[in-house]
Amino acid sequence: MTKIIDGKEFAQKIRNQVKEDSDNLFKNKQVQPCLAVVLVGENPASKVYVGAKTKMAAECNIKTKDFKMEDTTDQATLLKVIEELNNDSGVHGILVQLPLPKQIDERAVIDAIDVKKDVDGFHAINAGRLSIGGEMLKQAFIPCTPLGSLLLLKDTVPNLSGMNAVVIGRSNIVGKPMSQLLIEESCTVTIVHSRTKDIEAICSKADIIVAAVGRPEMIKSNWIKDDAVIIDVGINRIPSKKPDGSEGTKLVGDVDYNDVFEKSSAITPVPGGVGPMTIACLLRNTVTSAYRHAGLGDPRGTVDSESHDQYKDKYINH
Ligand code: NDP
Repeated sequence: MTKIIDGKEFAQKIRNQVKEDSDNLFKNKQVQPCLAVVLVGENPASKVYVGAKTKMAAECNIKTKDFKMEDTTDQATLLKVIEELNNDSGVHGILVQLPLPKQIDERAVIDAIDVKKDVDGFHAINAGRLSIGGEMLKQAFIPCTPLGSLLLLKDTVPNLSGMNAVVIGRSNIVGKPMSQLLIEESCTVTIVHSRTKDIEAICSKADIIVAAVGRPEMIKSNWIKDDAVIIDVGINRIPSKKPDGSEGTKLVGDVDYNDVFEKSSAITPVPGGVGPMTIACLLRNTVTSAYRHAGLGDPRGTVDSESHDQYKDKYINH
């Protein structure tokens, strides 16, 4: 029977852990984790996303500082705000909501963030640490969507070693870091993209498919092998009739869920799969940063959680 991988429930579990870690840090070091969120412009999707982050941060006892800047903001002004946040010892995480208006060079802004506060994990140094792996990975912040995808995957398949994984998409935000995490888990990883030839044949050999494409319901049942595990990162809004027959929209993934369901052994739904994990992992990275700034070890390890009791013995109960 196919397992539906419930990202909503798993994300709640992570947020509960984050709250516990945040409370412990306050109790023992009188430090409340703080995330600065910088939003430039009026992108409606970004505004919704930033609102959700702020609300969930508050539920986890993480303080937020919001910076809303005009659409016409120039790069120098934005860089000045980032410099101030870098120098503010009360701020542990800095998130600049992407995309930025076209007059601003995104890479210059991301790389201006203090690498120790780069809780999105997009800084070139964090990307490099992930790429090198091993001990370096333990100092990195891992991008939130791939981290959330991996945590869901490992909850379903605890030992990924030797498995064939295909990642569809090669963006710096999802596809590339996801591939590197899977390599770190000793998977044999193939990355496919818009120029790949015979993509279906490649996918049909995969034990695991991670789809991060942005094409609604592209992956069909004839692309996958029996019992494949499917992680669908895609979030696409498509036209759909409402129950009363009027025109509306709905969210679908990059995978044709209904078509693929029977053939797969486990699958993330959209919505309710990877989506909720992204903010949960952002909050987790923020608390991790606050622990590091307080001179403590990571509360949950990088990907594999150190047992929490062990952690408490090591860092809190003395
Ligand atoms: P990008 O547009 O940056 O990257 C898409 C990738 O898909 C590219 O590498 C592109 O190839 C590849 N691609 C496009 N068309 C095809 C095709 N026909 N066949 C094979 N590969 C193709 O997107 P993102 O990585 O930022 O996001 C991917 C999806 O994940 C989107 O639906 C997005 O909404 C969603 N997303 C969800 C998040 C969440 O919180 N759950 C967070 C971030 C993203 P090429 O490089 O050759 O152009």
